[in-house]
Amino acid sequence: MILECPSCRTRYLVQIGLFAQGGRQVRCVRCRHEWRASLPVHIDVYMPPPDLTPEPPPYEPAANLPAVTKARPFAFLFTDKTKKLAQHTAKIAFFAALIILSFVALRGVIVRFDPHLITLYRAADIDVARARPKLAFEQVSSNIKYDGGTMHLFVDGVIRNTTSREQQVPDIKAMALGPDGSVIQSWQVSSPATTIEANGAVSFHTGINTPMNQTIENVRLEFVAQGKAGDGGS
Ligand SMILES: [Zn+2]
Repeated sequence: MILECPSCRTRYLVQIGLFAQGGRQVRCVRCRHEWRASLPVHIDVYMPPPDLTPEPPPYEPAANLPAVTKARPFAFLFTDKTKKLAQHTAKIAFFAALIILSFVALRGVIVRFDPHLITLYRAADIDVARARPKLAFEQVSSNIKYDGGTMHLFVDGVIRNTTSREQQVPDIKAMALGPDGSVIQSWQVSSPATTIEANGAVSFHTGINTPMNQTIENVRLEFVAQGKAGDGGS
């Protein structure tokens, strides 16, 4: 409670409990004035105000500022132009992948259709042998016989149908290879049978006159794709 000297207006902070019994005589230290002080009818009691924190005013964008739109992450990276380009690139990549996958998955069919493509697969390190051939050469043997001044190369073997369905037999391309693996001579052999029954086999026999001055180390046999002419003899 604050007491104010009625004479010199000096103010004193006093404990309210001192006036619990009613009024009492007090004296001003400054001017020595004495008077009887009592509890005021109205005591100012400090009460904390309900809430001094002012409510934040509702946000309203200023008229001269752009309205705040919902944030779109990374949207600023893609203009419509780059977006279209990205979609276009993705499409091309998808179809390229599809073509490559088909090329790999169908390698057996493709190589049968065009055996020259086998080099492409080998260049790409794709194992074409995993595509199981429907026809296989078995028991292939080669002999060289001399007849006067001529050297004959004879090749014998069996063509086996490895499937459980009847297969047509294409012509055979035979190649005489030198010690370095190069083709010295190649010739085409008509298939011994037009078809081979399921899991069946037919034997074939072929031969060719070869130059005397060449060393033949090996013989390679391939099926010629149907409807496609071979290299022929040379
Ligand atoms: Zn006083």
